[in-house]
Amino acid sequence: MDKDIFYGEDYKYIPATSIGSGRSLEVLPDILCHTIQIVNICIVGNPNTKDFVLVDTGMPKSADKIISVVEEHFGTNSSPKAIILTHGHFDHVGAIIELVKKWEVPVFAHELEMPYLTGKMSYAEPDASVEGGLIAKMSQLFPNESINLGDHVQVLPADGSVPYLSDFRWVHTPGHSPGHISLFRDEDGVLIAGDAFVTVKQDSLYKVVTQEMEINGPPRYFTIDWNAARKSVEKLQDLKPNIVIPGHGRPVSGETLSKGLQKLVREFDEIAVPDYGKYVDNS
Ligand SMILES: [Zn+2]
Ligand SMILES: [Zn+2]
Repeated sequence: MDKDIFYGEDYKYIPATSIGSGRSLEVLPDILCHTIQIVNICIVGNPNTKDFVLVDTGMPKSADKIISVVEEHFGTNSSPKAIILTHGHFDHVGAIIELVKKWEVPVFAHELEMPYLTGKMSYAEPDASVEGGLIAKMSQLFPNESINLGDHVQVLPADGSVPYLSDFRWVHTPGHSPGHISLFRDEDGVLIAGDAFVTVKQDSLYKVVTQEMEINGPPRYFTIDWNAARKSVEKLQDLKPNIVIPGHGRPVSGETLSKGLQKLVREFDEIAVPDYGKYVDNS
């Protein structure tokens, strides 16, 4: 059965890094954020109970790293109950085939993301011509072909609940990708935002390397629907999150978060939407 799951043909290691790479941050006692090169994974669960879930799976070729982070935190041979995907871009599913094979755990994603996770449809080509810095320019190297998880991937429950994470709910935040989701916990206002918005200017090589804090819209080179992306950011602001763990950039809370998010919503066109690019005019 496992022979039937595989990456797209354009799957490859991407040489990109940041000062945060390899760093683990305990955002809360039950939430660990770990940076794989330029993208964050989240491990949610109490280390004492060993019940935990992995949110997103990092860059290509990072499976060994992710396994060692998990085992350091939860003990040798520990494995999550499930993997939840915010979406299926290469930098969020980079290690998923190896992880599913090793752990034999289910993967959950939004219904609209399923074609890109089951080998049926490739994402739109990353837009290297979009207004932005060097990461945008190098995005033509980024894999966009569908991976195939076969029946290892399941659709998230329609009622908003998150399997194995009873205190979280998923929120549909399309725009960056059709089935993009964010995870929210009402009890303490924790938001795992994925790429709905990020806290670093993700198209700029310099800012990605230095991880300079800047609440910004979704990564430009992959965002296909800017109107939907704007509505998604508004939806997340309405939740009044206390802590945000983004797919890219450092976790943020307090005034930096509330003011930054307010500004992003108010000035979405100036801050987030590129002045030009393949996916700008038709949205
Ligand atoms: Zn993405
Ligand atoms: Zn991403």
